[in-house]
Amino acid sequence: MKNVRFLDLSIQDENQLAKIMQAIKVVLKRGILINGPEVEQFEKAMADFCSRKYAVGVNSGSDALLLALKSIGVGPGDEVITTSLSWIATANAIRMTGAEPVFADIDDDLNISPESVERMISSKTRAIVPVHYTGKLCRIRELMEIARNNQIALVEDSAQAFGAGIKGKVAGSYGDVACFSMNPMKVFAACGEAGLVLTDNLDVKQRLEALRYNGTVNKEELIQPSLNGRIDTVQAAILLERLNDVENVISSRRKIAGYYADELSEWVKVPDMSDEHQVFYTFTVQAENRNRLKEFLERQHIETKIQHPILMPDQKPYQHCRKDSLISARHLVTRILSIPANEKTTMEEAGYVVDKIKEFYS
Ligand SMILES: *Cc1c(COP(=O)(O)O)cnc(C)c1O
Repeated sequence: MKNVRFLDLSIQDENQLAKIMQAIKVVLKRGILINGPEVEQFEKAMADFCSRKYAVGVNSGSDALLLALKSIGVGPGDEVITTSLSWIATANAIRMTGAEPVFADIDDDLNISPESVERMISSKTRAIVPVHYTGKLCRIRELMEIARNNQIALVEDSAQAFGAGIKGKVAGSYGDVACFSMNPMKVFAACGEAGLVLTDNLDVKQRLEALRYNGTVNKEELIQPSLNGRIDTVQAAILLERLNDVENVISSRRKIAGYYADELSEWVKVPDMSDEHQVFYTFTVQAENRNRLKEFLERQHIETKIQHPILMPDQKPYQHCRKDSLISARHLVTRILSIPANEKTTMEEAGYVVDKIKEFYS
């Protein structure tokens, strides 16, 4: 068996390549390289997919989070409650507004615990930023209720969860604002950096459009200092093309995940497959002797990832922040391991991964 890659970003499929090249060609021949018509078409398609009124394309998922928080007025003096286990972009976006992140514990499915969020609310709490981690919806309805009861905003970090949820009530359709990343690693991916913010509020949408263009309206008048966070027309055109195929990508991922779950549940803790609406940004198991398992798999040429080995509140700049006891997060962070499971993973590769994990434990 040759190397089993965690994720191979090259495009070998000639048919897919031709479609993407064609989409790029149309944009280049027209020459509107930023905010071209494909951007608006893409925004409309995403708003429709997520049953939202407005979508605003931006340069990255990180920008989406930062600008979303700014668009609802989060800033210095505010606290924003988020999860302990996520890519660091989630906490950084909060801090870059001038607000302080506050860290909640997680449940056994690695998603933010609403009970912990409730414990961490203070008079300064301005918003909650849950993540739909690994591509599984968090307990979003409970969080909506907590946000409503406490009059604080809910900002979904849906970066890992495009298409997760029940059709018509997907990730991105719940929060006051919702953010997506379409970076090349995500389930729904551009061929470079891209992000998006969704909302039903016209004021918020208009502020987002200003915030992504140096804080200006009508091209020249400054209303709030900001940086340039626009999305490339080429990326929007590629994403529009790939939107046609995203359901296939998701079902391939679910198929591999189902196979792993069946084969591995005796050896490691696998995700709960009874939740029908996960998209498996990662297939993350919880394993005894995780580090030794990872090293063993590496020697068998199987690439795995720990996402993420350091809890956000344990990163130096966040160590002083308010946090819950994090008993569950501290336990789980020593056990998580993501194994190769994406639309390009073959059944042969998945079978090899399964065999080697069984070999390690027996
Ligand atoms: C990828 C990701 C981001 C950041 O998105 P970029 O497009 O890489 O800036 C934010 N939050 C989470 C949970 C992510 O997985």
